[in-house]
Amino acid sequence: MIATPFLLACSPLVLGAGATLIFGRRLRKPPVPGLLFHSVVPKPRAEMAHFPRGRFEKLCDALQQRNYRTLTLHEASNASALPPGEKTVLLTFDDGLQSVYRHALPLLDGCGFRATVFCVSGFYGEDSSWDIFPHNRHLTREEIRSIAQSGHEIGSHTCTHAYLPYLDDQSVRRELSNSKKLLENIIGKAVTSLSFPYGGWNQRIWEIAQETGYTAATLYRGHVGVLKGLFPVQGVHRFDSVDDVLAKLTTTRPLSLVRARSRMMTHFARGTPVWKYRKEYVKV
Ligand SMILES: [Zn+2]
Repeated sequence: MIATPFLLACSPLVLGAGATLIFGRRLRKPPVPGLLFHSVVPKPRAEMAHFPRGRFEKLCDALQQRNYRTLTLHEASNASALPPGEKTVLLTFDDGLQSVYRHALPLLDGCGFRATVFCVSGFYGEDSSWDIFPHNRHLTREEIRSIAQSGHEIGSHTCTHAYLPYLDDQSVRRELSNSKKLLENIIGKAVTSLSFPYGGWNQRIWEIAQETGYTAATLYRGHVGVLKGLFPVQGVHRFDSVDDVLAKLTTTRPLSLVRARSRMMTHFARGTPVWKYRKEYVKV
């Protein structure tokens, strides 16, 4: 009987302590904060991965006003030490979609910014039939070559946008090695950066990637400083305002609203390999 009022009196303390432990814990700030886009279009449709072109232009202006300097993933992974106080950012685009070439890169070029574009090498110039939304067109070979010649980096996003943790070692190696070779043949230089489709990775995948010749990869979530060469990026979605995107570059609170929304969208994306299940997927 006495226990109930005692527990009620203590509950705010317990809740407060819990909130401090959870919400107060801060992530270590990554050496180079990163953003992950998929598509930039004038009028976004239903897809959450479509970011409005007008807002992207405002974001570029905001980054310029705040003296941000962009690094490609290759540059970030090879930078020995960045000058203290310098604001750097990784701008990355997954899937290698044509909308990025048409709407995002001209704006980036106008600001002198450089991006890293991760291409799915089995779908040049074709629609994204691997996706739940299968109507996004991929870059052609000529567009990929042109992007590389403009000073942006081309990275691999595998051959078929497979969920790598579901594949056996041989299949993972084939996805990573073949996409690397195919892209290198187009751009005429080494492809050393990787983005894991659906953010799906583990230690096994990363070891195979390194054996295949990759030296850096982006991650949707955390693991900062755990493994050399891995760079966390925050997903950007159509509901993010310019201020939200800027907050993703500076906040270190793991449960901040903008980070929580990014994580939630990542989890939704992981439903795609279940929806589009393939016969080569195995439990490894
Ligand atoms: Zn993707």
